[in-house]
Amino acid sequence: MKIIHLPIFALISLLLCTCGPATENAPEEMTDEQLRTHANELAHKYIITDGHVDLPYRLKVKNFKLDKEYLGIPIQTDAGDFDHVRAVKGGLDAPFMSIYIPSGLQKEPGESPKLADSLINMVKGIADAHPDKFRVTTSPDQLEQNFKDGVMSLPMGMENGSPIEDKIERVKEYYDKGIRYITLTHAKDNLICDSSYDTTATHGGLSDFGREVVMEMNNVGIMVDISHVSDKTFWQVVEMTDVPMIASHSSVRHFTPGFERNMDDDMIKRLGEEGGVIQINFGSTFLDGTLRTRQDSLRDVFRERMEAAGIERGDEGSEELEEAFKKEFPTLYSDVEMVANHIDRVVELAGVDHVGFGSDFDGVGDSLPTGLKDVADFPNLIFTLLKRGYSDEDIEKICSGNVLRVWRAVEKAAAAS
Ligand SMILES: [Zn+2]
Repeated sequence: MKIIHLPIFALISLLLCTCGPATENAPEEMTDEQLRTHANELAHKYIITDGHVDLPYRLKVKNFKLDKEYLGIPIQTDAGDFDHVRAVKGGLDAPFMSIYIPSGLQKEPGESPKLADSLINMVKGIADAHPDKFRVTTSPDQLEQNFKDGVMSLPMGMENGSPIEDKIERVKEYYDKGIRYITLTHAKDNLICDSSYDTTATHGGLSDFGREVVMEMNNVGIMVDISHVSDKTFWQVVEMTDVPMIASHSSVRHFTPGFERNMDDDMIKRLGEEGGVIQINFGSTFLDGTLRTRQDSLRDVFRERMEAAGIERGDEGSEELEEAFKKEFPTLYSDVEMVANHIDRVVELAGVDHVGFGSDFDGVGDSLPTGLKDVADFPNLIFTLLKRGYSDEDIEKICSGNVLRVWRAVEKAAAAS
């Protein structure tokens, strides 16, 4: 054993210091086992936010009701990627609850706001039923207080601005109902802007009404979320506002060439220059372009097989056909290293102040990467980052510091307007 002679002031500061990690070595000198322990400590020492968790819609699809029989599901369940027990294990403190509104509802006036209200009420109902575990959260200050109190924060973000319909006053109404970010659109162009998944290019980016919506979001203090929008929309939004924005759940297009749903290098740089944050989506096909291409071609092959067999989805025999197809072409997954590659790339392009987590847990089905299968696995990702040389301070920024900074900037801009 090496004996180290420390000067007396160093000994005193060692004795006084209560804030260091329990493991004594610097991260680069730690064994993998020590680094894993340290990663787990950091996951619980720092606040972890996740920009996008689709729990409300998963529960809606399962006909979740706010009664005794169902209310245990958000606490512990074998299904899905999120529950309280696993989130506590993983150190997740503030999953943004996605109030997800499918684009298909836009055709029927009144349907999108109806669904938005029911999902918002569901989140509030879950928090009301378990006040010792969850609090609906509408500000970074509250979120930090909840962390101190050992209660999980449930901030809400609305995925798709379609419930606003053509009524600008609804932006403020949704703010009053607790919504703190709005993803401008989803899979189709809406009244606000064009979507990355839609080839129609209805507005060539933002509509005039969309510009009003962005300004009103800045005025009331709702974060503008540019996940899902077309490139043109992104560039027009970034030109019209100085208030920083988020991508709640997007990854880096460099790894998925041609996939407009992810952000390209120039967009990431510009988002960073404006003070914003991209929160990385964990879905395997968001992480790895080869997996996306494979999935797309398999979808075509499966469709052809169904046609050849004269079977449609839901027909007798369709499930067997699907099972056999899955056996023949098993799902392939990306891994936690690839998530770290995306984070590395953002850091190279924009800096460590502009990246966070936006898992899309409960929103990407059976597509999560190896080593990051549910909310309990955040320490694995932190371990991977530590191993790549990220400092504790960097980890804190990525876990929540960056997104809380944006949220505060949005609050401040609204207060000044
Ligand atoms: Zn989405």
